[in-house]
Parts: sequence; C-alpha cells; structure tokens
Amino acid sequence: MKNLLTIAGSDSSGGAGIQADLKTFSALGVYGMSVITAVTAQNTLGVDEVAEIGRDMVKAQIDAVFKDIPVHGVKIGMVSNPEIITQIAASLKEWKAPNIVVDPVMISKSGYALLKPEAVETLKRELLPLARVVTPNLPEACCLLGIEALDEEGMEFAAQELHRLGPESVLIKGGHLKDAANDLLFDGEDFSWFKAPHLNQKHTHGTGCTLSSAIAAHLALGYELQTTVQKAKEYLFGAIEQAFPLGHGVGPVHHFY
Ligand code: PLP
Repeated sequence: MKNLLTIAGSDSSGGAGIQADLKTFSALGVYGMSVITAVTAQNTLGVDEVAEIGRDMVKAQIDAVFKDIPVHGVKIGMVSNPEIITQIAASLKEWKAPNIVVDPVMISKSGYALLKPEAVETLKRELLPLARVVTPNLPEACCLLGIEALDEEGMEFAAQELHRLGPESVLIKGGHLKDAANDLLFDGEDFSWFKAPHLNQKHTHGTGCTLSSAIAAHLALGYELQTTVQKAKEYLFGAIEQAFPLGHGVGPVHHFY
C-alpha cells in the first residue's frame, strides 16, 4: 500500500481541500493521511470563515505522521500564511519527503483569498523548490510571475519562468482558457500539451484539489511524469463529468470508488 499525505485546508462542505484530497486518494487505491493547515467554514455558496492552525500544531501533525508511518507522496494545497509555509518547508526537508506536489491555492472560485497576499513570496521561495510538480492555474501562474494575464500562446514562456523558481516540473492548467482546457507540462527540457475540451459543467467545486492529489497518488504509485499527468487528468475529467448539484450553489466533482 502507498501512503499519501495531504497538507491542506478543511472544507466543511466536503467538496474541496482535505476532503477532496482524501476522497481522491481512496478512489485511486492509496491510503490517505492529512495535516490540516486551516479550517474553513464553507458550503457550496462560498467561504464564511477561516481559522488558521498555528505553526506548532502544523509541525506536530507532520512529525506525528512521519515518525511513525512511511510517506510515499505529499500533496500541498491551502497554506494560508507565511508562518505555516515556512514550517511545512522545514518539516518536509527534515523528513526528506518524496513526490511533493504543490498546488499553489490562492483564491476560491467563490472569490475568497485562501492564501494571504503577503504569503506569495514565501510560497515561491520556500515551497516551489521542494516540488516534484507545481500545478498553478492561469491566474495563479500570473500571480506567481507578477504578470497581468496569460493566454495559450504565453503558457510555454510562463512555464519556463516558473521552472526557474525551482520546481522539478511545472503543470500550468488551462481551465481558464476560452476555447479548451489545455494543460501544459514542462519538465525543464520538453513541453507536453494535454488537450481536452471544456465540459459543460456548472458543478466544479474541488477540481484543482482533485487533480493535484491524483498527480501525487500516481507519482507515488510509480508512474512516470507524463503518464501520471495523463491519468490524473482522465480521473478529473470523469469526476467533472459526474459532478452533481448539492446545496444551493456550485456542487462538487464526483469521486469513483
Ligand atoms: N477550500 C479549500 C480548503 C481549498 O483548498 C480550495 C481549493 O484548493 C477551495 C476551497 C476552493 O475550491 P474551488 O475553487 O474548487 O471551489
């Protein structure tokens, strides 16, 4: 059995964050563990409140897992503030964590800032160099690079620039493109495009969390990077196709067991 750890925020409505990550891990046949960085009070309409977890407690959770259990991969999602980020980076270095996937979560689809603006530089400096893969969407890639906007033509240059920040590879997700959901992978040498149509789906809560967790799981299962991204994207495609209405707003993607 492969043991996967998610370090992320809790979503009380179960569609994104820690809950999406653990559902993805179960669906893909790996054992899921969690370090919670923040508790969000949210539902399908949006985020009402956030309580950040103190850095000592983040450290204690990571230590408790690593000192007892072999960890084969780590997905990092919502990290909230500079203190939490610095702690996560120090702890993962200390424990020599493998297969780290960094999803630079910034703003929820409903518009809530899940990462403090002043934490962006810390995330770039501390977490990106630890990443086997970093998975920004287009607005996140823009924010990391300090640019206004990004279209499909600009994605290859942006991926190279993000690679210079230290991750082994970069996956820019094109879900915000107008005509298609084309993603670009850059491994430091080659570009690979993963092309897909936009699905006509209103219920998309938890898509980013699901993709990055599926990537971490497939890497831990031993797939090489290209196959990993392909398989993770296929899993997400199915999960979006079967997403369903829940509550009064944007429903969650559906996980397959
Ligand atoms: N809540 C938490 C805890 C998250 O980690 C995320 C995204 O990573 C979201 C909410 C946002 O989910 P979405 O933008 O898919 O609605």
